[in-house]
Order: sequence, then C-alpha cells, then structure tokens
Amino acid sequence: MADMSKVFEYAPAPESRDIARLKPSYQIFVNGEFRDGGSEPVKTINPADETPLAEVAEAGPADVDDAIRAARRAYEGVWSTLSGASRGKYLYRIARAVQERARELAVLESLDNGKPIRESRDVDIPLAAAHFFYYAGWADKLEHAGFGPAPRPLGVAGQIIPWNFPLLMAAWKIAPALACGNTVVLKPAETTPLTALVLAEIIAEADLPPGVVNVVTGGPSVGQAIVSHDGVDKIAFTGSTEVGKSIQRALAARDTKLTLELGGKAANIVFDDAPVDQAVEGIVNGIFFNQGQVCCAGSRLLVQESVADEVTDSLKRRLTTLRVGDPLDKNTDVGAINSAAQLARVRELAESGTEEGAVRWSPPCELPGRGYWFAPTVFTDVSQAHRIAREEIFGPVLSVLTFRTPDEAVLKANNTAYGLSAGVWTEKGSRILAMAARLRAGVVWANTFNKFDPAAPFGGYKESGFGREGGRHGLEAYLDV
Ligand code: NAD
Repeated sequence: MADMSKVFEYAPAPESRDIARLKPSYQIFVNGEFRDGGSEPVKTINPADETPLAEVAEAGPADVDDAIRAARRAYEGVWSTLSGASRGKYLYRIARAVQERARELAVLESLDNGKPIRESRDVDIPLAAAHFFYYAGWADKLEHAGFGPAPRPLGVAGQIIPWNFPLLMAAWKIAPALACGNTVVLKPAETTPLTALVLAEIIAEADLPPGVVNVVTGGPSVGQAIVSHDGVDKIAFTGSTEVGKSIQRALAARDTKLTLELGGKAANIVFDDAPVDQAVEGIVNGIFFNQGQVCCAGSRLLVQESVADEVTDSLKRRLTTLRVGDPLDKNTDVGAINSAAQLARVRELAESGTEEGAVRWSPPCELPGRGYWFAPTVFTDVSQAHRIAREEIFGPVLSVLTFRTPDEAVLKANNTAYGLSAGVWTEKGSRILAMAARLRAGVVWANTFNKFDPAAPFGGYKESGFGREGGRHGLEAYLDV
C-alpha cells in the first residue's frame, strides 16, 4: 500500500487564456463578410465557471437566405468551375493556417466547450487540420476515387453541427464538401460558436472567393431555416437522433440529399484474455474522453464474467487518479460538461440508474463550486432493461454489464437502437475479426478505442444515422453519384 503522505501533488499548470485572443463580440460570416445578424446577439459562456466569454451575433431568417444565395452564386460563378488542383490549393492554405493558429484555437475551444486543453491541443485541433490536408489531397484526384470518370458536385450544402467537437465537426463537414466542388452554409451549435467563427476568419484570410463558405450562428430555428430553404441541394447533420429524424421527415418529399450522424450507445467488449491494464486505459479513454460527450463513446462496458471483478476493481483504482477540474490546466483529464441543459440530462439519467437498482460509484473528487461539473461515474449491476443501458447519456457515466460467451457478447452489444461504434479487447486476432463481422456498428476498434484518422470512414447503422464521413467514402456524401 503506497504511503499517501509521500504522493506528490501536481502544481497547477494553466494555459494562458490570453492565447485565445477572445474578442468582446463575434459576427456571422456571409458572402465573404462579417456582419451583425438579424436576431438579438447572445452571450456564449464558459461552462467551467459560467462567466460570459463574448457576445455572438445570431442569424435571422434573412441572413440564412442571404447565405444560401451567396453560396449558390459562388457555386455557379466560381467554385464548381475551378480545377480540382485550385480547390486543393485553398484547402491546403486553410489547413496550414489552422496549424499556425493551433494554440489559439485550442485555448478558445477549451474556454467555449469546457474540454481539457490536453484534448483540444492534442486531438481536436490537429485532427481538424489533418482533415483539411487529407481532403485537399483528394480535390484533384476525384476521377480516381471510384465514383466514375467525372464525378460532379451537388451544389449548395447546408451543414449543421453539435457542440462536442466544435472545430473538428466543422472541418469534417467543410473539407470534403469544398474538395468535391460544393459551397457551404455552416451552422455551429449555439453553445460553441467561437472556433467556427475563427475558422471563418482563416477562410477569409485564405482568400476563398466570397460565398464559398458561410457561417451562420444561432439555435434550432437557424438550423430549421437552412433545412427548409429550397436553395440547398444537400443537408449534412450531426447531432441528436431526435433532431435527425425531424430533419429526415422535413426532407421526405424533396430532392435534397441527406446524411445523418446521430447518437450512439457503444459496447466496449473485454474478453478474459485481454491485457487488463491496456483494456482499462481503453475503457477510460472510451467513456471519459471529452467528459463522455462523444457520440461513439464506449458507454456500455461488456466484460467477460470470469474477469469482471478484476477489471472493475482495476478500473476504479485508475479512476481515482483522474484529475477533474480547470479545463485550461494541462494536467486536467476531465473538464466541464458543456451546458446546464446537458448537465441536467446527465444527472437525470444517472439518478434513473440508482432508482432502477444499479449500483453507483464515483472516485473521491472535489468538483469546482461554479460551472457545470459531473464526477466520473461507474454503474455496476446494470441490466439491459435499465435506461442507463439503453439511452445515450452523453456524459461521463459508464454502465457495466457482463457476458459469458462470445455469442452473448454479440447479442448484448447489438441489443441497442444505435450502431455507431464498438470496441473489442482480446489477444486473439481471429476473435477480433469474427466479432467485427457480427457487430452492427459503423466502426469497430480492436484493442484501442476512440481512434480517429481522416482516412478512415466514420458513420452509423440504425438510429445512429446513415452516410459516411472521412476517407474516400466521405467524398460520396458530396458527389452526385
Ligand atoms: P442537437 O441535435 O440538439 O443539436 C445539434 C445541432 O442541430 C445544433 O447546431 C442545433 O442548434 C441544431 N438543431 C437543433 N434542433 C434543430 C432543428 N429542429 N432543425 C435543425 N437544426 C437543429 O444535438 P446536441 O445536443 O447539440 O449534440 C449531441 C448529440 O449529437 C448527441 O446525440 C450525439 O450523439 C450526437 N453526435 C453525433 C455525432 C456523430 O458523428 N454521429 C458526433 C457528435 C455528436
């Protein structure tokens, strides 16, 4: 037993907030210009302490109309007539500028979203740049992508994104659309508009023709205005299954292409031959990365019965070392929940777990007095009927279930309305392949979790949506094929 009096404490190592170059106010970006929106501006707040960060313009219906018309003009007049190599040149410029401003973007993202700086610095921003680099490379090679000799773009794409990976989701949407020759109107989530507006600055500085990219900020009504506008040829939506379904209904009678990236309730499956320490790291990364606010989070741990106690004991020991607190501190592992509404949802679902008979556990950790905080939480004795095993919590809450045979693991893993991702931990390569073939999930990770690469397609089955983002497959969503 370690003598706790000899454990070294971490000294605070906060990143400076000045690096974010926060401005008092931000404007929408339409037709290559920044301007006020037609609706009342709103304040975006820091979820870690509830203080306002900046005032953000809110687009009105006329702004959405202007943005879509500007995108149409840019599509017909310039962008669709440029060579792939020229489009690629612009995308490379954006990629390099994202890299150059990476520190600023990382701090800004952590301030607006609440995620630890370690993640925004090492994951969100580098991956966003990587997406622009990757699709820049495709722009002049579309005829070799397997979609025919001269694949054509769709036209104007309306793109609506959530708050969990604000800049990264913007990159996932904009990069393939532009590479294929489309123009875009992007709507960031209402609680995290800042990095998308800095990306608009980067796009303006990269000299993209006006109207090729437009960024309109605001809430659901702005999203609805984009979806219902007859000037869009394509809607790409990432967000909740509920809203995704309503968008699909709204587009039912229209000739508008649609891709949906929705929720998830992934199984992370640990077999008895898996190396326990690595599996525990994968479980932690699977559900506590980004406070569990990840559509493909490994929120259901399926562990083989013979090693269940060993794995859960080891997991709990590991969780006692997680550092929860200031997102700007470079030692922080778990930051703040993005909004009061999301925190209320996580709390409500966690309470249902206790009410329905599961056993709740959290490591001892002192949560800050202000802001939206939720301690990492593990539920054991979970049954498949419990809400915490069925519903997407989108927070740092893990439900542990057990299985005896591979067949039972597959049955339980697939017993969900979702189908976005899954994880398999085992020493046997043959078992990995057999499991991957039977799991109804768009991505199956083996002996790792939450691993992303711009070259790898990502997307769902069933209520997790349809269409793929990333890789060669991601081009199809923006081509008339
Ligand atoms: P949300 O559906 O409430 O909002 C997502 C976006 O849609 C926001 O920009 C919002 O303003 C907009 N919106 C809301 N109502 C709308 C409407 N009626 N019409 C048009 N736009 C509308 O989701 P959220 O709470 O912001 O995000 C969390 C959800 O996103 C989770 O369910 C998560 O699983 C999912 N998600 C999925 C992926 C994926 O790739 N599959 C990635 C990240 C998040």
